[in-house]
Amino acid sequence: MAATHSTRMLILGSGPAGLSAAIYGARAGMAPIVVQGIQPGGQLTTTTDVENYPGFREVIQGPWLMEEMQAQAEHVGARMMWDSIVEVELSQRPFRLIGDSGTIYTGDVLVIATGAQAKWLGLPSEEHMKGKGVSACATCDGFFYRGKKVAVIGGGNTAVEEALYLTNHSHDVTLIHRRDSLRAEKILQERLFAHPNIKILWNTEVDTFVAGGEPEGLVGIDVRNTVTGEVSRVDVEGGFVAIGHSPATELFKGHVELDSDGYITVEPGTTRTSVPGVYACGDVMDKVYRQAITAAGTGCMAALDAEKFLAEADFEATNAAVAAE
Ligand SMILES: Cc1cc2nc3c(=O)[nH]c(=O)nc-3n(C[C@H](O)[C@H](O)[C@H](O)COP(=O)(O)OP(=O)(O)OC[C@H]3O[C@@H](n4cnc5c(N)ncnc54)[C@H](O)[C@@H]3O)c2cc1C
Repeated sequence: MAATHSTRMLILGSGPAGLSAAIYGARAGMAPIVVQGIQPGGQLTTTTDVENYPGFREVIQGPWLMEEMQAQAEHVGARMMWDSIVEVELSQRPFRLIGDSGTIYTGDVLVIATGAQAKWLGLPSEEHMKGKGVSACATCDGFFYRGKKVAVIGGGNTAVEEALYLTNHSHDVTLIHRRDSLRAEKILQERLFAHPNIKILWNTEVDTFVAGGEPEGLVGIDVRNTVTGEVSRVDVEGGFVAIGHSPATELFKGHVELDSDGYITVEPGTTRTSVPGVYACGDVMDKVYRQAITAAGTGCMAALDAEKFLAEADFEATNAAVAAE
């Protein structure tokens, strides 16, 4: 028979959001279980230098930060499970979820912190140069390219915002877009076109991210004109792929309300989803900020929202029992 683990607070995801919820949940006596998913520690385990997480004067390493967060969560009483949820039943409490291992998890409340993944172009050179000049997050990595030439790939809101953001660090930003017009909002386009330090390569797609130097870094991007087929090189040291993100919400379709981009919707100013007792935090509900610190912040909010919900539910249950006596 399949093993069953039951808890007051079940958390899906072990990135900054899930682990912060676990720390707060454990300290509130909810003995949380964290189902870690296929990427224990989340997105930060795929990067090296992190310079913007508060509390550290020196540059820290993403995987190290996540190990510390997990150790802290375990220290205060959270339990980690090496499993990934494949099925959810949220129509009644306790919520019942099934792991890839066949294990059943039940929780009086559920915190969804399954994150989001950046979309990539899918080029072998891109894979090779990730973290060595190719990034999907200007807010995270733009600072490392101050005074250097950089390029942004994409044509939507994210790409335009990233290009504008990068002008804080670089006087030479190139936007590479495969069409002859942008999908971004008009107001953003106007700011982009007016910026003296941004140039746009229309009808252009990336052919190869070019590696060079010692230690190896990005020395340029070979681009192809989609109309003429001509290949040329853009001399940049940073390439930011900004073609969108995919929130990990496939599992929740039809169970909790999602917005048109697939992100979990929450009541403004809270982490409450459309299902009472189910909370969402981190990148799975945030398509604007997408930072470790904001994920951790909303993870804290989710645990506090969940704790309040359980306290109220317990109070009502006690009152009902007294009335029935
Ligand atoms: C290369 C890179 C560099 C970055 N650098 C920085 C930086 O310098 N500073 C910064 O603030 N931010 C940075 N970020 C962004 C930051 O990593 C994210 O904003 C943050 O990790 C989001 O946290 P999260 O907990 O919401 O989700 P994630 O970190 O995405 O974690 C999601 C978790 O959910 C789990 N999961 C998914 N599906 C399931 C399932 N079905 N069942 C169980 N678990 C599941 C995964 O295994 C994972 O543990 C970077 C991101 C990347 C990709």
